[in-house]
Amino acid sequence: MWIYSIMRDNGYIGRRIKEISAALPEGVTLIAVSKYHPAEAIEAAYSTGQRDFGESKAQDLVKKHEMLPKDIKWHFIGHLQSNKIKYIAPFVHLIHSIDSYRLLQEVDRHGAKAGRRIPCLLQIHIACEETKFGLTPEECLQLLDAGEWRSLQNIEIRGLMCMASNTDVKEQIEREFAAVHSLFNEIKERFFKDNGSFDILSAGMSDDYPIAIKHGSTHIRIGSSIFQS
Ligand SMILES: *Cc1c(COP(=O)(O)O)cnc(C)c1O
Repeated sequence: MWIYSIMRDNGYIGRRIKEISAALPEGVTLIAVSKYHPAEAIEAAYSTGQRDFGESKAQDLVKKHEMLPKDIKWHFIGHLQSNKIKYIAPFVHLIHSIDSYRLLQEVDRHGAKAGRRIPCLLQIHIACEETKFGLTPEECLQLLDAGEWRSLQNIEIRGLMCMASNTDVKEQIEREFAAVHSLFNEIKERFFKDNGSFDILSAGMSDDYPIAIKHGSTHIRIGSSIFQS
């Protein structure tokens, strides 16, 4: 069920998109995280020119993809279950949440079936909460060092994604984003030196995106601050 109030002022959504976009440095992409919000809310954002949207459930992504304009770029940002990949493989723009080599292999398999190369990000677990998903920086380096990913023809590793701790301690958030930024630079240098396509750092949500941008974020994922008036 999508949480939706009939009283919602959809004009608010367009205004927030414009305000946030206007203040972004060049080269930073705003992904409007529309999870839990209905097609009407997405249309309100779409009508201001917004094209990148994020969803965290495969079923919702598929439903919304079917209902809404086909030039929307759909980002999958939630925890991805292997048995759901087949539904999103034909059209997903970017999968932000690869957290194991096995999952990468599965995405590759479905990419082959769908006849495309699926852009993916490796999700880094940097926050202090145990509940968050992702590879630790060490696990991420091990995965890349192992090198098997190089043989996968139907995925493309485009960068990293992270979520900072849910805390008011700004120094901790700074530390976490800085750590992922330095990991990103290290990986780019070590594994993608001759390949310009490792160029996405997906970091920052409603409460912390200005800090993420300071630390190299290229894609911010904003939900509540757009869709919740
Ligand atoms: C929900 C969600 C967001 C958006 O969070 P807000 O705080 O509402 O901006 C960003 N990234 C992920 C992975 C999410 O699940």
